[in-house]
Amino acid sequence: MVETVLDTVCPVCGEKSLIYRAEELDLPYFGKCLQTTIICRNCGYRHADVMMLDVNEPMFYEFLVEREEDLNVKVVRATSGTIEIPEIGAKIEPGPLSESFITTVEGVLNRIVDVLVQIMHDTPEMRDKVNDILRKIGYIKHGRMKAHIIVKDPLGNSAILSNRVRKRRLNEEEIKELKLGEITYELRGIK
Ligand SMILES: [Zn+2]
Repeated sequence: MVETVLDTVCPVCGEKSLIYRAEELDLPYFGKCLQTTIICRNCGYRHADVMMLDVNEPMFYEFLVEREEDLNVKVVRATSGTIEIPEIGAKIEPGPLSESFITTVEGVLNRIVDVLVQIMHDTPEMRDKVNDILRKIGYIKHGRMKAHIIVKDPLGNSAILSNRVRKRRLNEEEIKELKLGEITYELRGIK
C-alpha cells in the first residue's frame, strides 16, 4: 500500500490534512485493480475509487437475483459505474463514492431503500408508489421475486463478481447514454 500526504485542503473542513492511499487488489472474476482512497485525518471525509489494471473495455454485466443467497454476490462500483434494477425502475448513476467501492447485491438494495424512504419523507403523495417498490424489494430479498442487477461502466471499472453473470462489451449507443458526472438517483416513474 502506498500512502501520500496531499498538499491540498480538505473539501469539507478546509484543513490541510488529506492523505491518499493506493492499494492493489486481486478480485475474483474481475482481476487486478487499484483501490484509491482519499481520507481526511481531521474530519473523516473519504473518497474512494477503483480502477482496473488489466482491461479497460466498456462493459455490461447482468446478474439474475433469484435466491436469498444471491444477496451476498459482490458488486464493484467505481465512480464511472451505473447500476440498474429494471424490475423496480431503479437506477444509480455515477458519482463520488463516499463508502467502500465493493458492496453486495443486498448493499445495493439497501441503498435504494434509503433513497425511497427519503422520497417518501419529502413527497408524502408518493407514499403508495414508494410502498409498492419497498414491498417488491422485500420480495426480492427473500427470493420470492426475481430481479436483474445490471452494471454498466464505459471505463470497465465496475463489475458483478459471480460465475453466473452475463457479461459483454457495451455497444456505442449504450455508451452514449451513460453519464459520467455527479451522483444522481433516478427512480423511473417517481418524480
Ligand atoms: Zn476534512
